[in-house]
Amino acid sequence: MNVTHPFFDEHGDKLREECGIFGAINASDASALTALGLHALQHRGQEAAGITSFDGKEFFTRRGTGHVAENFSSQEAIAELPGHMAAGHVRYSTTGGSGLRNVQPLYADLASGGFAVAHNGNISNALTLRKELVERGAIFQSTSDTEVIIHLVATSRYPTTIDRLVDALRMVEGAYSLIVLTPEGLIACRDPLGIRPLVMGKIGDSIIFASESVAFDVIGAEMIREVNPGELVHVAFNGKIESLRPFGNPKPRPCIFEHVYFSRPDSIFAGKSVYSVRKEIGAQLAIESPAEADLVVPVPDSGVPAAIGYAQQSGIPFELGIIRSHYVGRTFIQPSDGARHSGVKRKHNANRSLVEGKRIVLIDDSIVRGTTSMKIVEMMREAGAAEVHFRVASAPFAHSCFYGVDVPERTKLLAARMELEPMRQFIKADSLAFVSIDGLYRAVGAQGRNADSPQFCDACFTGEYPTSLTDLAQRKAKDAQLSFDKVA
Ligand code: SF4
Repeated sequence: MNVTHPFFDEHGDKLREECGIFGAINASDASALTALGLHALQHRGQEAAGITSFDGKEFFTRRGTGHVAENFSSQEAIAELPGHMAAGHVRYSTTGGSGLRNVQPLYADLASGGFAVAHNGNISNALTLRKELVERGAIFQSTSDTEVIIHLVATSRYPTTIDRLVDALRMVEGAYSLIVLTPEGLIACRDPLGIRPLVMGKIGDSIIFASESVAFDVIGAEMIREVNPGELVHVAFNGKIESLRPFGNPKPRPCIFEHVYFSRPDSIFAGKSVYSVRKEIGAQLAIESPAEADLVVPVPDSGVPAAIGYAQQSGIPFELGIIRSHYVGRTFIQPSDGARHSGVKRKHNANRSLVEGKRIVLIDDSIVRGTTSMKIVEMMREAGAAEVHFRVASAPFAHSCFYGVDVPERTKLLAARMELEPMRQFIKADSLAFVSIDGLYRAVGAQGRNADSPQFCDACFTGEYPTSLTDLAQRKAKDAQLSFDKVA
């Protein structure tokens, strides 16, 4: 589920995963489980949350802006969502606005009965499909790309809901992990390349699904396995589980940035511990780009595992040279550069007694616009650091993501604007290095990137998108036509 929005985090300088999803079936407390699961996925979306439940006869939905705890921690809220099956969603707000009509799960009464869907990802031909549907008379309630799936299901001529869903998904391109509730049961599915994550677990007789395995840990559930790329898992109320692979077996391309930044370090993604992979990225960085230094300092929190890996590999002591405040209120709209910089200082503070007079290797997970990196380097110098060597636990982020991650427009990405040395000058570090693409792949257990058939989606680093981007191509064609008209 995606659209763009005009601002980022309080720095305007971090990428944001846009959604997390959770579903439970055959659970006496399905909505309470879903609320707890969503709470563990809160890092994937913090601006709105929703849960839909089904009691065997009726669907119930409650959605609200803000955190999961603000909307679903009371007995009353859960009591509004009865039944043995539920699905939930957390999200960031997006262009179509943060209005409730875009908050998921989305629900529709179809000829076959109720249909509720929670979506993580982004459909890269949604605008094109939407235009065709509107021309055929469809009336959309939201501006979300997810609603396109509902209309395609509604207009499919296949007899069963699952066949209609498969028919609809054959028409969409891009990234989707979905949890769908119908009167027959729950369907969980992943796009053919498995770009966004989805895992399956169980607790007692209940089968559950979540964007990340950490949600299972929090509710005391057991992970069964990942939902395979291109797989639809249908769980019925009698407990029968059916797996379908209607899209053949294309080679998976999961998002490598889940390992770098989005997933919680205590999750398992693509069969690997995210924490271990992040540590290994730090080790690869130390091998590829050593520095003469006294301390390895992470930019907290996301730079911590890579900094541990860098320190262990290099033998340079790891220290918390930056302390993060956990009580900074979110201030989303930061119109001026000055306001953004004050946000950095409220969130991070140099541990002066530690860094004074020392040569520091700073480790962060990524550089997006570069504003935060520049301020953090400046902060270390103000605290008396003798040298600041910046090491980045991802490759240069130079391309937009069309698969459900919020990225500033390309002209704002530092790595799209500059080569390495100008970037170093911009952030004012003594040296700057990124882990190589092959180093990233080695960290996830591969020999390196297979250039003929990459094992992951890494398009934000390489510009090689694993699916067609129909909406983008159409927009470019339209822009080209407009400029041609102007010249003519
Ligand atoms: S473009 Fe980057 S962030 Fe987006 S899915 Fe691919 S690897 Fe992930």
